[in-house]
Formats: sequence, structure tokens, C-alpha cells
Amino acid sequence: MHEASLALELLKITQGVLAEHGGSRILRVKVAVGELSAVEPELLRYAWEAVTLESPAQGSVLEVEFFPARQVCPTCGPVQRSPGSWLPLCVSCGAPLRVEGGDELDLLEVEFDVNGEKS
Ligand SMILES: [Zn+2]
Repeated sequence: MHEASLALELLKITQGVLAEHGGSRILRVKVAVGELSAVEPELLRYAWEAVTLESPAQGSVLEVEFFPARQVCPTCGPVQRSPGSWLPLCVSCGAPLRVEGGDELDLLEVEFDVNGEKS
């Protein structure tokens, strides 16, 4: 399962951040998930809950910021489409479209506790 290994990876990174700053507990983690990254935000939250049990991140909040992909026409610019559906060609001029963005998969923020103080 993609989300489970990703959650483990995130935990490893956030624990590294925690150790580096001498924090005691992870409170909140924010990640960017692109539409094309094949990560289901809901599943990732479940996986996070599971892998953080008995860790300094237990009970922490995983926030997922979703980034949709954009289809762009070389002549007309970004093209409107409904989420989850793809246009083969530009609706205005018929040119092939390219895809921009949507492949994000990044750790954006880690909020942790240092001696009872938020940081
Ligand atoms: Zn066009």
C-alpha cells in the first residue's frame, strides 16, 4: 500500500526534524499531495494514525493540501476541466494540451512541542 509506506517515510522525516530541534512531541504535520501522485488523502490520514501509534507523533494532526493538475494549451493558456476528467485537446483551438503541476508530494510544515512550548 502506497499510503502506508509514505506515512512511514513521513514519520521518519518528522522524527528527524524533531530530534534536530530537540522537540519532544509532534503536534501537526502538513503535506502537499498532488492529483497525479496517486495518493489518497483520506487513506494517508488513516495510515498516519496507524504508524504514529507509540511514537512522538501519536495523536498529531496530518493536514493534506491537495494540488490538482492543470491542463494548459500552448496558445490559449490553462483550460477548464472538471476534476478527475481529462480533455484530449484544447476546446478552443484543438491544440494538444500539456499537464502542469499535480505531481506534488512534499512535506510542507512540521509543528512540534519543545518543553511544553509550541514551536
Ligand atoms: Zn487552445
